[in-house]
Amino acid sequence: MYNITISHRLGKDINKVASGLFSARNPTFRNRFFAVYSQAMNPYPIFTGDQALASLRDTLAASRYTSVFVITDTHTHVHCYPILALYLPAHQVITLPAGESAKTLDTCQTIWHEMTRMGMDRRGVVLNLGGGVIGDMGGFAAATFKRGIDFVQVPTTLLAQVDASVGGKLGIDFMGYKNHIGVFREPVAVAMYPGFLKTLPPRELRSGFAEVIKHYLIADAPGWVGLQAFTSFESLDFEAVVAHSVEIKSRIVAADPYESGLRKALNFGHTLGHAIESYYLETPEPLLHGEAIAIGMVAEAWLAVRLGLLEQAEAEAIRAFVARVYDPVTIPESAFFNLYFRTLQDKKNHGSHVRYALIGGVGTPVLDQEADRDLVFEALRFYAGTMS
Ligand code: ADP
Ligand code: ZN
Repeated sequence: MYNITISHRLGKDINKVASGLFSARNPTFRNRFFAVYSQAMNPYPIFTGDQALASLRDTLAASRYTSVFVITDTHTHVHCYPILALYLPAHQVITLPAGESAKTLDTCQTIWHEMTRMGMDRRGVVLNLGGGVIGDMGGFAAATFKRGIDFVQVPTTLLAQVDASVGGKLGIDFMGYKNHIGVFREPVAVAMYPGFLKTLPPRELRSGFAEVIKHYLIADAPGWVGLQAFTSFESLDFEAVVAHSVEIKSRIVAADPYESGLRKALNFGHTLGHAIESYYLETPEPLLHGEAIAIGMVAEAWLAVRLGLLEQAEAEAIRAFVARVYDPVTIPESAFFNLYFRTLQDKKNHGSHVRYALIGGVGTPVLDQEADRDLVFEALRFYAGTMS
């Protein structure tokens, strides 16, 4: 049985989110510890807060590992590794090129080469220090090396902290398809140090925030009301924001690790969002993942309205919130068919039907909803504010 235990303290804290999250730094959110029980009933800790790296150090000190191998990219090596290194025993480091284009089998080979050269075996542990790219690829490389060695996720982007590092999905891109080759495997620990976010470019921060918004929309209606008090990233308590998202995502993933049901709720905004992301990837001005997902959530909110699931005022509130955080993107009508066509390629479809994960009111996911082409066009117009 899959189960999840979240400390009682956390449960109480989360109820305070709506009122306290954006008004003051809330000390009860510090140094959070989540125990997540995997399918095999292997509990693994998720450390958040200022003490996250100290907790990781203590975990490693108490472990049986004989070697530690750290994977960084060129940016996290400069910005994050010097901090992490203060907490580590003797270790080896490898630095890979930054960015999605490096998330390939070739780069995996480099990792496996180095691990072999350094004599890594199953008594060793791999620490993935970086964003979603390093986490997914480093985790995949570890999960397949000598039939799988332990790894720890140390996510350094907001996107990776609130999304990619929870849920056990690992992989690389292949033949132009994202995450085409991969496995499900859980880390032995996750350490989310808020200080890493300080050097993250603002655009990356904003992109990651889309998944935070999504978690409110699919699972926390009172929190969504509280979120309306958001004014700027400077005044945001990232530690609290990350703890909130991790709690929601780990609950959902624990209930449905292999995405046969509830986990699909996490795809809200992603069917149209992925289409938009891949479309803009082929233009001179690509969008970051979260920037596309934010648009996707607005458009899919309209689908929910037209399918009788959501009040129009709620969809308008989602659109207004997204407009406060993100610069507007002009999607030409001439691109609508192209975008619709791209939704048909979504790997989560069964047969020819596009299945959307929508919301039936804020906080309530509604899965497997179908929308025809005209409705999709309408939804894109709703985002643009040009509904007739
Ligand atoms: P994701 O957005 O999926 O987490 P990446 O792993 O590609 O994606 O990270 C986005 C970019 O931010 C990469 O160029 C990465 O090197 C860089 N980066 C990651 N963490 C930090 C950090 N804490 N400070 C500065 N740059 C970072
Ligand atoms: Zn996403």
